[in-house]
Amino acid sequence: MSLSVEVRNLKKKYGEYIALKPTSLEIKNGEFFTILGPSGSGKTTLLKLISGFEKPTNGSVFIGENEVTHAPPHKRGIGMLFQSYALFPHLTVFENIIFPLKMRKMPKDAATKKVDKVLELVQLSSFKNRYPHQLSGGQRQRVALARAVVFDPPVLLLDEPLGALDKQLRLQMQFEIKKLQDNLKITTISVTHDQEEALTMSSRICIINDGEIEQTGTPREIYEKPQNRFVADFIGETNLLTGEIIGWDEEIAIIKTKHGEIIRSLTFNKELKEITFAIRPELISIVSAVNQPENILKGTVRDIVYMGESSKCKIVTENGETMTIKLTPKEIPFVNEGQVLQIGWEVNEGTLLNK
Ligand code: ADP
Ligand code: MG
Repeated sequence: MSLSVEVRNLKKKYGEYIALKPTSLEIKNGEFFTILGPSGSGKTTLLKLISGFEKPTNGSVFIGENEVTHAPPHKRGIGMLFQSYALFPHLTVFENIIFPLKMRKMPKDAATKKVDKVLELVQLSSFKNRYPHQLSGGQRQRVALARAVVFDPPVLLLDEPLGALDKQLRLQMQFEIKKLQDNLKITTISVTHDQEEALTMSSRICIINDGEIEQTGTPREIYEKPQNRFVADFIGETNLLTGEIIGWDEEIAIIKTKHGEIIRSLTFNKELKEITFAIRPELISIVSAVNQPENILKGTVRDIVYMGESSKCKIVTENGETMTIKLTPKEIPFVNEGQVLQIGWEVNEGTLLNK
């Protein structure tokens, strides 16, 4: 029932403004695919082109084997959930959810059965006779979700549906959506600017910036092996050190940073010269008698921020390089503002990026 989605060289101009540069993507049947990017990067534009609410300037859209580039939205049969999910206020939960089945002229018995099944999936069976104004925000969202999937669409599109919810509810809804998606195995394309949501829910993520895809990969590939500075900076927190390679020790590049620190990084790309070295705060540890990593820098502790399960602080080296590190609960009591200490990481930790 669920189908793959493919876009080929898809491009969108609004007047002279290019909202989406030529983009090609293949989303496999049953995938949970997330489009992640800052506001205005073209995420909604890409979804609208897939759903048919906008026409592309160039390129084509396929759902399964069928080209749908010029088909109107209702012919594509896609399920959709947006931030403004407008339920019908004068219809009950049940009537709201059965609506798409009535439109499709499904016999009443079959439709009722189907609605009851979906109500169970989103755990709203006991609310079916309520009206939208008698529900909480999260419950309304679940009704909208049920309505979006009740007609077994081959594809589900989500455009920041959780954006308006508070954090607790958002986490709960993320869980509900993921459970429903696992259950129905429905191909899902989700748009968000929330990186944590993208990392936890998706089988694959594409990072979009300024109408252009910067990288597509699994959450781990995106987080651990960002391909460029934008992705490294956008996902998670990262220390970015610029510098140049001044020598090689087999596959290990010897780097002099802009501030004159010498660090070593494993890379198989011998073409690199001017580089940015990216390393996550959580990969940097405090050097001790029993922890002697290959890269060691000495610096002074600044700006400790306590965050409960961890702390963050800045280490400023004698040469003026500033690194953010994450302290584990066991390290927190031993690190104080103004203290001089050594931090370090192994040569295979962190990533070398081009420039
Ligand atoms: P996102 O969803 O990533 O925030 P959008 O796809 O909505 O971004 O918009 C991408 C860019 O295209 C933005 O600069 C936006 O202002 C512009 N844009 C979107 N829709 C229209 C439109 N109908 N007419 C003109 N410009 C538009
Ligand atoms: Mg948008």
